[in-house]
Amino acid sequence: MPPTIYKSPHPDVPIPQTSIFTRVFAAQGPGDVGGFAGSMKAFTDAASGAYITRAQLRDLSLSFAHGLRTHPATAPSAKRGDTVLLYSPNSLAWPVVLFGAVAAGLRCTTANSAYTSGELAHQYTDSRAGLLITIEEGVSTARAMFAHLGVSRADGDKRIIVLGHDLGWAGGPSAQRSAESAGLLTMEDLLKGGKLEQEEKFEGALSNETTYLCYSSGTTGKPKGVETSHLNIGALLSIVPANFPTSTPQETMLGILPFYHVYSLTQVIHLPLVLGLPVVIQQRFEPVEFCANIEKYRISYTLIVPPILVVLARHPAAEKYDLSTVRYMCSGAAPLGKDLVNQVKQRLLKNRRPDEGLVITQGYGLTETSPTTHLLTIADCDRKMGSIGTLLPNLEARLVEDDDGDVDAKEGERGELWIRGPTVMKGYLNNVASTKNAITPDGWFKTGDVAIRDKEGYYYIVDRRKELIKYKGFQVPPAELESVLLTHLDIADAAVIGIDSIEQATELPRAYVVHAHPERVKTAEAKALFAKGVAKWIETKVAKHKFLRGGVAVIDIIPKSAAGKILRRELRDLAKQEASQT
Ligand code: AMP
Repeated sequence: MPPTIYKSPHPDVPIPQTSIFTRVFAAQGPGDVGGFAGSMKAFTDAASGAYITRAQLRDLSLSFAHGLRTHPATAPSAKRGDTVLLYSPNSLAWPVVLFGAVAAGLRCTTANSAYTSGELAHQYTDSRAGLLITIEEGVSTARAMFAHLGVSRADGDKRIIVLGHDLGWAGGPSAQRSAESAGLLTMEDLLKGGKLEQEEKFEGALSNETTYLCYSSGTTGKPKGVETSHLNIGALLSIVPANFPTSTPQETMLGILPFYHVYSLTQVIHLPLVLGLPVVIQQRFEPVEFCANIEKYRISYTLIVPPILVVLARHPAAEKYDLSTVRYMCSGAAPLGKDLVNQVKQRLLKNRRPDEGLVITQGYGLTETSPTTHLLTIADCDRKMGSIGTLLPNLEARLVEDDDGDVDAKEGERGELWIRGPTVMKGYLNNVASTKNAITPDGWFKTGDVAIRDKEGYYYIVDRRKELIKYKGFQVPPAELESVLLTHLDIADAAVIGIDSIEQATELPRAYVVHAHPERVKTAEAKALFAKGVAKWIETKVAKHKFLRGGVAVIDIIPKSAAGKILRRELRDLAKQEASQT
């Protein structure tokens, strides 16, 4: 039987084969930067009000690129194709560093700013990064990471570039350097020397070169470097706008999702530049600040994850501040339930005029698909709420019943979602085996998500076939937590699964552990005490989003298949049973 291939209902759009820097900033006339006035605000720092215009962003990026390429301390690690690691929370400096790296022809790997030194060490070595760019608060973790890797303090320090809170370069407040970072190279040092005349070019076939390396565990195992090319990002920037609301000069986006994740990287950094949408940057999500910033900056657009909607549905700040300017919220990275959307709408629409509408919609995608493959458009979002929408242009999908792709699901039945098209990653960095498992020889990427497609072509995510757990949109790879748990001297075996929290609109990681000395945990009290200790201990080892918020349970044996694979479904059933007994 030939495979059942579903096409996007939208006509294909042309995809330029060019560098992402050229695409975003190409001038189409005097005073123009990427199709809009260079004097238009690009990014504003919510806390200080300092901002950079589109022209400043391009110029600062070219200066940063020049600094990277020519400063004696950075030049040896900043040749075309080299990799820099960006380890910073959202800030005004973030897009300058990113586009500076891109203009210099470098690959940029972006890390979660909450990472511990151990987690950072994995990404730094795996991506073969040279330079590490961080904020003052990240310096001690960066140093601990180099120590962990056996790099001397002096050599480690030579690879660190510090982004201060000094926004002097953006016309904002100037700050004092801390003692911690004294003597380290700074962003300001690199901005001083001049400006690249033009960005490195990646035209035609060269647009297939890797530009970003975000990390994802994929269907199994530890985080892997996802090779995203200029062409992948360029394709995303071509296929999403056709299904995105058009902006007017009065619109402003609140950039709240962490930039290191591909969802925010593409849709809060790149897409607004293509759409001419100014972005106000909030460093980290905090409910009161979020609502206060919406009021202060008269925010109309924001990209969110479902737990933010929980805040809008329940937190008093959502009623204290004026949120009436918000008209479009797009959720992604995790499933979004209908009930939650209705609760938020009821609350926020209470004080609005009938003509002040509010769209709450969702998109779907993965780091490996750059990311969005499906989007529920404004026209459909009430009628089809709960669906991830239809396939974006230039993409194809299959719903497959078996691992090999020999059997396709019948219409209306569930199958693993496979995607093919120009936004599918090149592969996992230096990992042929994982790439082969993820992408078939004829280009189909296996998402690991189980979906249903209705007769009208709308898709619904109904299950996940892969191991991955998502806590509030953040990836929690079970294999990573299991390997950390196995370093605990009293743990003989471990398995981690996700359990659903409807209340928080997220999954919570839950561990099952086997004690190395079962005679020590014979009573329920001893088990509970040990479990509590493990949950506390893990908090010293991993970033916050990986904490075992779903609890730890002591178990006699981890259920495994004959081949030694953890039978996670059995553990998920056990967790459901346990929850029903409490
Ligand atoms: P990431 O690579 O971190 O973006 O994670 C991708 C995974 O997040 C997908 O494979 C899905 O399991 C999940 N995901 C993303 N968007 C949605 C959505 N709208 N509904 C359900 N799951 C989603």
